[in-house]
Amino acid sequence: MTRILWISILLLIIAFVAVSCKNQKGLKQDIGEATLKNSKDSVQENHSDQSDSLLESEQGAASPKQPSDAKSRTSAVADSSLKNYKYSWTDSENIPPVIIIVDDFGTATGALLQNFANLPKEVAFAILPDLPHTQAAAQAAQNSGRDVLIHCPMEATISKTSPGKRYLKPGQDGETVRDMLDSFYAQMPMAIGLNNHMGSTATQNKELMQTVLEHLRTKGLLFVDSVTIGNTAGYRLAQSVGMRPIKRDLFLDVPDNSDATIAARISDLGRFRGRVEPVIIITHCHNNAKLVALQKFITQIQDMGVRLTSLSGWYGSGGVALGN
Ligand SMILES: [Zn+2]
Repeated sequence: MTRILWISILLLIIAFVAVSCKNQKGLKQDIGEATLKNSKDSVQENHSDQSDSLLESEQGAASPKQPSDAKSRTSAVADSSLKNYKYSWTDSENIPPVIIIVDDFGTATGALLQNFANLPKEVAFAILPDLPHTQAAAQAAQNSGRDVLIHCPMEATISKTSPGKRYLKPGQDGETVRDMLDSFYAQMPMAIGLNNHMGSTATQNKELMQTVLEHLRTKGLLFVDSVTIGNTAGYRLAQSVGMRPIKRDLFLDVPDNSDATIAARISDLGRFRGRVEPVIIITHCHNNAKLVALQKFITQIQDMGVRLTSLSGWYGSGGVALGN
């Protein structure tokens, strides 16, 4: 009997040691993946049009499972393993402030919309026009005191998904472009600017972008180029029409919402060390996984000493003509 007892104890010890070794290995693999993705990210911009279509195709795929209250959100953040990753920087002193824009509002509603509206008020909402929850998103953004951008649908090269019911594309005459912009603006008059939804074709077209930028300038609106394709003309033309060039630096949710991807994006902030202008990061409101990833990202960078700032706080809420 005693011998059986001793054999059982021995087996338990062996099982415990085996499980511990497996966990150690998993952690090392995670760190390795973060490093690998970080090194691959230098080519991310060239592929961002594909990323854009990938992201837009997720539209409407919102998970019905939402955190039921503030406590569950907090515990999701507290469980974050982001501290276990190694980063390309540890001293935040010369890391620029970060601006976060969440794209594609207009589909999100209910608890998902409300939980995004509970994020720090520096986080901007980019809202698609002509959608069932466009107004709800604009209202939620305004109630929570955050910046609104018109998330303007524009023609894309690769995506099979239509950018929207109405969208800007090359070949449209100036009046059509201006009327559409005015109509989008009328749906969210609190907007301080505009960024492009998709638009890998449209933003390459200088004539179209010139018309868009000149009209935005007369309305006192910012233009943030989402950079869904490497050779976008958007932010490059901004300066020539007297506006400040502003563009997206990183996508947070490409290729996915894993901890390894979030950690890789945190490492990427090290590339901007010493720059004065803020780092502009775009993510999306499609589902709860993206919300939780963003919460983890914000918690981790704030813990590391990086400051969030808002678009209006940095660039002003009205016109951004050079020299103003
Ligand atoms: Zn979009």
